[in-house]
Amino acid sequence: MAYDYDDQNIFAKILRGEIPNKTVLETEHTLAFADIQPQAPAHVLVIPKGAYVTYDHFCAEASDAEILDFTRAVAKVCEMTGVSSATSEGARFISNAGLHGGQEVPHFHLHILAGRPLGPMLQ
Ligand code: 5GP
Repeated sequence: MAYDYDDQNIFAKILRGEIPNKTVLETEHTLAFADIQPQAPAHVLVIPKGAYVTYDHFCAEASDAEILDFTRAVAKVCEMTGVSSATSEGARFISNAGLHGGQEVPHFHLHILAGRPLGPMLQ
């Protein structure tokens, strides 16, 4: 089944430089930037530069180089922002997908939240 990517989504516009962002890290295949409405003292979004709608889409179709670049970027962002679970009180990594997942922006993104107790994940 094909994933339908809308290239007018907000994160696609950020990647094209049409909307400003507070960049935390940029690598060959990945961009990390501050969430515009932070839900915790640290709230960073990490996105691949490729056109992937959801995490499973990314896992299914991204190249090994993109996947490795993304995962290493996540580690680097955690290190840079002081939220590595090795050195802080912990963090939460979330990726919402689709309607039931509550995904608002249809470009795969990983939320990294930290800096306060976040409570139970499932409601
Ligand atoms: P989702 O619900 O899709 O998992 O999360 C989308 C996230 O993108 C939300 O946390 C929202 O605050 C963030 N967001 C929406 N528009 C923008 C924007 O223009 N810039 C930034 N930096 N974040 C945005």
